[in-house]
Amino acid sequence: LEEIVTGVAKKIRVKRYVRCETCSGTGEAPGSGKTICSACGGTGEIRHVSRSLFGQIINVATCSACGGEGKIIKNKCKNCGGDGRVKKDTLINVKIPPGVTTGNYLSLRGQGNAGRRGGEFGNIIVVINELEHKYFQRDGYDVLYDLKISYPQAVLGAEVEVPTLIGKAILEISPGTQSEKILRMRNKGIPYLNGNGKGDQLVRVSVWIPKHISQKEREILESLKQSENINPKPNTDDFFKKVKKHFKH
Ligand SMILES: [Zn+2]
Ligand SMILES: [Zn+2]
Repeated sequence: LEEIVTGVAKKIRVKRYVRCETCSGTGEAPGSGKTICSACGGTGEIRHVSRSLFGQIINVATCSACGGEGKIIKNKCKNCGGDGRVKKDTLINVKIPPGVTTGNYLSLRGQGNAGRRGGEFGNIIVVINELEHKYFQRDGYDVLYDLKISYPQAVLGAEVEVPTLIGKAILEISPGTQSEKILRMRNKGIPYLNGNGKGDQLVRVSVWIPKHISQKEREILESLKQSENINPKPNTDDFFKKVKKHFKH
């Protein structure tokens, strides 16, 4: 994801056909030259004539001896066997723009396999496959981050350091923040692939409950428990009004 935010230049290793350097792609051994194909007499075609009730039928097929060229190489290049190209491991530079996602692809024109005997080069298609991030979830151009805060932080409010895709940032938790609340950090998401602007980072807050507490913490919590104000009050009129309203719709 960090690479997707900034865009990245990558070197990829590709096994592909490249021009044979010995014969410069012609497929001929030095000084070989070509001779007229004896199978087709230089036309590149083989004609089969057959007679039937309806007259003469002429079948024209490409000559298999010369591949339709009409000429045959006298001495084939030893390096490529007359193909004019050889397989080779090569490193290709790819520039990946910001904002890509799995399934996007880049087409590198003319960087694919060399054609036979000096033929045109094909293309390389690079398909993007995004890796899962350790703690960010992607949703389009937004990223989601789960943040655990303490009960006092949720009640009193706090300034918390939060990782983003472009480094750390301070997030303000306002006093009285409920668990599961989603806070939006604008423009901290992924840049749009085609155009200006960025997605946001969404921070889902949840209150962390410790499993083990010290004696002192226990005493504080026990005394806090006595306070009316900190206990949830779901069974109020207000709550039932909301529920009724919900069922009416
Ligand atoms: Zn060659
Ligand atoms: Zn031929």
